[in-house]
Amino acid sequence: MEELLTIGEFSARSGLSPKMLRAYAAAGLLTPAAVDRSNGYRYYAPAQVPEAELIAVLRRGGVALADIAAFLRDPTPARVAAWERALDAEYRSRREALTEVRARMTPGTAAPPITRTVQEKGPVMTNLTAATATDTGTVRPENQDRVLAEDAIFAVADGFGEQGRAASRLAVDTMRAALTGDRTRETLADAVRQANRAVWREGGEAPASGTTLLALVAVAGGGLVAANVGDSRGYRLRGQQLTRVTADHSVAADLVRAGELTERDARNHPRRSLLTRAVGVGPEVAADLVEIVPQPGDRLLLCTDGLFNELEDDRIAEVLRSAADPEDAASELTRLAASHGGGDNISAVVIDVGVR
Ligand code: MG
Repeated sequence: MEELLTIGEFSARSGLSPKMLRAYAAAGLLTPAAVDRSNGYRYYAPAQVPEAELIAVLRRGGVALADIAAFLRDPTPARVAAWERALDAEYRSRREALTEVRARMTPGTAAPPITRTVQEKGPVMTNLTAATATDTGTVRPENQDRVLAEDAIFAVADGFGEQGRAASRLAVDTMRAALTGDRTRETLADAVRQANRAVWREGGEAPASGTTLLALVAVAGGGLVAANVGDSRGYRLRGQQLTRVTADHSVAADLVRAGELTERDARNHPRRSLLTRAVGVGPEVAADLVEIVPQPGDRLLLCTDGLFNELEDDRIAEVLRSAADPEDAASELTRLAASHGGGDNISAVVIDVGVR
């Protein structure tokens, strides 16, 4: 039998205090290899040192004891990735809150939309410049929309329900994290499936929450693919012509497609907010996949319903035609929608297609 270590010796070898070791044992972690029935002294095996060190590192990473126990039973990279994503999401959310605090400190001005611009090179031939803008609007207490333009991945998500804000963030973050390797139609579809599962699992007590998700990625060969679930919209401006590239998954849109409702009536239809597909409300969801063959000079828009319910397509086209760059276009569109009514959260991602 290998030599046992007293709790003092094990503490010195592992870097965990005796008090921590007792707390871990109570949580079912690092059970002592032996205990002396006459005096209650605990003894550990030298072979337990690596596990103790790993636990210490996990604790430094802020992982809860119960999660550590599950990890030690089933130590997969997926669990680590999930903790990393949660940390990134928390960091971003706190960062945004602080940006909002800063905006609110300037008296007499409405909180400005959060805008940012990125320059991206697609895999082949396509040089993409994008900007995002998102605005709470004038009525809703919080912004449940999420926008993304990073690493040639573009997305808008419109969360709903009590946990809507968390749902849109989790969906976008999961989708982005899932796009690690080759970008193809299939990997994008799978990334959306993973996003759906993550939000569905997270729903637990609040299954009434979910989100729309519209994602656009550059794929090998210079093309673009969009994946859509819900009623966020993709538009393409080519020359003077604005074309909608996605179909809404809503009851009202079904009625329009069936010829029972005009586009104009659909805007005011009492059931216009009823979605026929959404991320996180069921264990599976299928995204519409739309392939877009970009031409230099194309300008693309991804937006949530808070934008297109306030602005007619003609007005959207006017802004896209006249804005100097994506940042101008995104911020002008959100500003106009907010001043027109702003009854909902408003988000826009504008992407210009250039030539490398
Ligand atoms: Mg909305």
